[in-house]
Amino acid sequence: MPEVFLRALPELVELPLPEEGRSGCVDCRMFASDDDPANRRTFAPGVACCTYHPRLANFLVGRQLRKGGEGASRLLERIESGDGVTATGIVPPDGWAQVYAEGRKNGAFGQANFVRCPFLSDSMSCTVWADRGAVCRTWFCAHDDGPRGAALWRTVKAALWEIEGRVARWAIREGSPPEDGASATAWTAWYLWCAEQVDGLAAEAIVDAAVEQLRDDMLAAWSQLDTKLPDVLAASMSQWLVGDRIHVYGYSVYDSASVPASLFTFLSKLDGERPWREALEGSELDEADVAELFRIAALVPPTHAHLCADSELGLRLQTPDGKWVALDPE
Ligand code: SF4
Ligand code: SF4
Repeated sequence: MPEVFLRALPELVELPLPEEGRSGCVDCRMFASDDDPANRRTFAPGVACCTYHPRLANFLVGRQLRKGGEGASRLLERIESGDGVTATGIVPPDGWAQVYAEGRKNGAFGQANFVRCPFLSDSMSCTVWADRGAVCRTWFCAHDDGPRGAALWRTVKAALWEIEGRVARWAIREGSPPEDGASATAWTAWYLWCAEQVDGLAAEAIVDAAVEQLRDDMLAAWSQLDTKLPDVLAASMSQWLVGDRIHVYGYSVYDSASVPASLFTFLSKLDGERPWREALEGSELDEADVAELFRIAALVPPTHAHLCADSELGLRLQTPDGKWVALDPE
């Protein structure tokens, strides 16, 4: 991570961030596999989750240009085109926000080439990885601590995003960005200048009470990680897909658990008082299955439970042929 972030937020070094091994991108877990139940949400192999256009702050662009390689070539090509080339950095081109919003509504995220990131290589690696922006740096499709990990990363993203913006604006105040319509050479020189200046930027120039607040939010989210598995649990699934095993979702449509088909027999024994270990006796599920369901918040303390797949449609079950059937809660 660029030093300026670590100077502004030393906690990022002092406190270990979750490794998020479930989001190991070399073997993307969101690609379809033969074991998938019908209708599992998957991503297309040519894009995965990089169906997004990042905002790269001026100093991050300069850092990549300095490094050379494919990231720099792609940035230079972009600078030549003039699309989204601004003093604060490289941003999505005009009209992108609307295209992206429409695309997301129609299921383009994780699927469509027209929202593919311009910095994703043909071999599916991020060409600006070391200097990627706050959103890419903090996005994972699955979290070791489920919703608690997701909440932590949201606070890290907010803090990094704020610092990126502050540093980019600081560079603009200190320097002389090119005018609109300036040559590619002038823009390239500007981004390189920003990177060089920011290398030595002291935290005091950008940290104030607002950043301190973001840091406190981050620390508060950190303290919520690794919650102990309670003795009594209740179901709180958002969706489940039935195949040879049951594919269960809780806090996220991307992070799921696969458990034996007798899940519902086990759930029927969770009455809000009986310890789950007692309910597990004689079940095909084991303690690791319960821990995994708790991780994704498909099992939660009874006070947090809502066994309801959809607030409008109530309890429902998706059959292997994709149909939804309503369930009688009794
Ligand atoms: S973070 Fe993206 S590329 Fe990595 S495993 Fe998840 S969907 Fe795949
Ligand atoms: S910048 Fe890198 S991580 Fe972010 S969307 Fe593009 S290729 Fe993916």
